[in-house]
Amino acid sequence: MAKKYSSKINKIRSFALGLIFIGFIIMYIGIFFKNHPLVMTIFMLLGLLAIVASTFIYFWIGMLSTKAVQVVCPNCGKPTKILGRVDMCMYCREPLTIDPNLEGVEFDEKYNRKSRK
Ligand SMILES: [Zn+2]
Repeated sequence: MAKKYSSKINKIRSFALGLIFIGFIIMYIGIFFKNHPLVMTIFMLLGLLAIVASTFIYFWIGMLSTKAVQVVCPNCGKPTKILGRVDMCMYCREPLTIDPNLEGVEFDEKYNRKSRK
C-alpha cells in the first residue's frame, strides 16, 4: 500500500528512525578522523547525541500514544489512533476528527470521497 501521507505518530516515528541513522552516519564519519582525536571525539559525541535524542523521541511517542484516542476507521475498519483534534488513519490515511465542530468543515464526507479514487 503506497501512501504519501501518514499519521502524526508515524511521522514522528520515522523522524526518530532517521535520527538514529544520522547518528550512526555522523559516528561513521568520525572514524575517518582517526588521526585527529579531538575531531573524532566531537563527531562521536554528536552521533551519540542524535541517537540519544531519537531515544527520547521514541519515549515521547510512547507517551503520546497513551494520550491518543483509539477509534475504528470508518473507511478501512481498522483500529487507529487520533492525535490531537484532526489526524489521519495510520492504514488508509483517511482524515479523521474527534472534534464535532470540525466535522463538515475541513474533513467532511464529501471531501473524503473526492480525495479517494
Ligand atoms: Zn483507515
